[in-house]
Parts: sequence; C-alpha cells; structure tokens
Amino acid sequence: QINPANRMTGLPTQFFATLVGKANAQTAKGRDVINLGQGNPDRPTPEHIVAALQDAAPNPLYHRYPPFSGYPFLKQAVAQRYKEDYGVDLDPDKEVAILFGGKTGLIEISQCLLNPGDICLVPDPGYPDYWSGVALAGGRMEYMPLTADNAFLPDYDRVKPDVADKAKLMFINYPNNPTGATADSAFYSRTVEFAAKHGIVVASDFAYGAIGFDGKQPVSFLQTPGAKEVGVEFYTLSKTYNMAGWRVGFALGNPEIISLINLIQDHYYCSLFGGIQAAAAEALTGPQQCVQQLNSAYESRRNAVFEAMNEIGWEASKPSGSFFCWLPVPKGHTSASFSDYVLEHADVVLAPGIGFGTHGESYVRLGLLAPEERLQEAIHRIGKLNLF
Ligand code: PLP
Repeated sequence: QINPANRMTGLPTQFFATLVGKANAQTAKGRDVINLGQGNPDRPTPEHIVAALQDAAPNPLYHRYPPFSGYPFLKQAVAQRYKEDYGVDLDPDKEVAILFGGKTGLIEISQCLLNPGDICLVPDPGYPDYWSGVALAGGRMEYMPLTADNAFLPDYDRVKPDVADKAKLMFINYPNNPTGATADSAFYSRTVEFAAKHGIVVASDFAYGAIGFDGKQPVSFLQTPGAKEVGVEFYTLSKTYNMAGWRVGFALGNPEIISLINLIQDHYYCSLFGGIQAAAAEALTGPQQCVQQLNSAYESRRNAVFEAMNEIGWEASKPSGSFFCWLPVPKGHTSASFSDYVLEHADVVLAPGIGFGTHGESYVRLGLLAPEERLQEAIHRIGKLNLF
C-alpha cells in the first residue's frame, strides 16, 4: 500500500489527458477526428535549428555534465534577443536562468517564494500549471477573473486589499492562453504599481510573446519601468520556433528571483544537454524570418476560422495574439457538454473552458493548430449541427 504525500492530493489531474483519451476513443471507431484541443504546435522546427543540433551533438564536451546553470553562450543569446526585440537589457550572468521548458520555472517559482498558506493570485481562466506549482508549495490561490468586459485583463481594483497585502506572488500571461487576449504597456504599468504597493512578486508568462496579430508585436512585461524590481518573465522556444519537444525555456529579470530559480534548477536538472543549448542559441541568434512566417501563418489561420464562423453564425471576438480562439458555447450547453457534443457528432476536439477555471464555463478553446482547410472543415462540421 503506497501512501502518497499530502502535497500530491492537491495536484489537479491533467485534464488534457482525459481529452486525449476521448479523442483517441473516437479515432479508434474509425472516425476522422480534427483535434484542436491541445496547444501543441503542428509544424516542424526550422531546418537551420535542427542542423545546429546535428553539428553540436558529436562534440564530446557536450557529452559531459553541462555547467550547473547552463552554458553562458545560451544566456548571452537570449539576452541579445531581448535587446533586439524589446530593447530590454539583461545581465546574462545574473538575470537569466535556463529552464527545462518554461513550465518547470512556472512551477518552481511558487516553490521558491511561497510558504504553506501563502497567497498567490492566479488568473481565471488560466494555464493550469500555475495551480500545480501553488499546490506543490502548499500555497493558497486567490483567483483574478478575466472577463470579456475587461478585455480579459485582471482588474486590480477588484482584488480585496487584505488579500493583496497577504499575496506574495501573482501570475499574468499575455498573449493569453486560453483567451487570445494581449496586454498593452499601460496594463503592465498598472501591474508594476499594484505589485510594488503590495509587495507581490510578478511572474509574467510570455510563452506566446512572438504571436501577435494585426500588425501589433506583443509587449514584454520587462519593457515596463520598474518591472525588474518586482518580477520575472518566463520565455520559451516552444511556440516561437516550433520547439515544444526540445524543452528549452528561460526565466528573465529580477536577479534575486533568478538566483533562487537557478538554485532549485541545479538540484532538479543540472541543465539541458549541451547540443540542445547550442541549437537553442542558433534559434535565438540565427535568421528570424521563420518567426515572422509563423506569426503570419497563425494570423491567416485565425482569419480562416473566423470566416467560416461567420458563415455558420457563430459569433466571437477575434484573438489578438497566441494561437487560441476563445469561443462562447451555444445556449443550453456547458463547456464540457458542448465539447463532448462536438466530439461525438462532428469529430472535432475543442478544449472545454472549465478546464482553465470557473470563468471558462461558457467557452471552449480552439487551437489554430491545423492547416486552414482542416480548421474551416472543423467549423463547417459544427455548423451542420445547427446550434447557432
Ligand atoms: N505558458 C503557457 C501559457 C503555455 O500555454 C505553455 C505551453 O503550452 C507554457 C507556458 C509552457 O511552455 P513550455 O514548457 O513548452 O516552455
């Protein structure tokens, strides 16, 4: 009889695993399933990055343990990218931590900063990994609702002052998963002001930083005056360079927090394979046309989806960034019942909004993660169900 530690019981089950199970069961019936439920980029890593790994892999230096917090050349590469893209200065030694994918850092920051019972402010709806980190640290979550009437931004005036004073950490995420909303510099200034006033550390999740539509490049939290004093930004190669399988991410910003994250990473991982670090540096410092191409491909996909939605009378607001569309469910349905219904009757997988928090209850999330024709076909199949 195995007795798990109490902290394990606080961990939410991976709801994507349930979704994948349902999709697989439908495929096993011989149905042509269009899976738009998960956030997994569908296109390969650009060739020059794969070639950099092939060149680096035979180097015997990389076959040994890497330096504890990773190779300095990779820290320099990400600092250079932030300087070029956002005009942000980062000290590669003190203000950069290399992560085993962004998600490890998003979980570890709670372990670095929260004692049992400490409050963390999390967006609702939001990316479920924030909850996992808080649960593992024994922290307490207070939700910040993200609603359409406030452009899916948290309203800091609605956080009770006693909660704000007790909170030690907060997560923000723009371009946003799951709503597709983006934030401007005025929002980040309000965030810095709120965090400084209440002594809260800001964890800005910038996983979709490269994906912004209608000619607007997403703003980085670190561009805000005072940001480095109150927080860090999590950045990843997973979406920007279609490198989700490579597991390369970064924490950037406040040196005290970076040193805590480096410490915990040293214990867990002792950094990534050097060949992957070399290829990651090539991704960051090599040709960047692939990033623009990826951005316009997602924008065309978004437009194709909204064209098809218009044809079937499904009304929603267009995402301004990320690769997700946050779509209201028809009357009479919950997010889960609608998701089950379209899988059963249209062979289309959409993630139920409730998986991202209670404020997701009347939405489903559609990932722009298939070619345009398949995306349009998915919407047309849903149209045939005459729900709109
Ligand atoms: N943050 C958000 C909002 C995400 O959607 C994801 C991945 O789906 C991540 C972070 C983690 O990315 P990775 O661990 O691949 O760097």
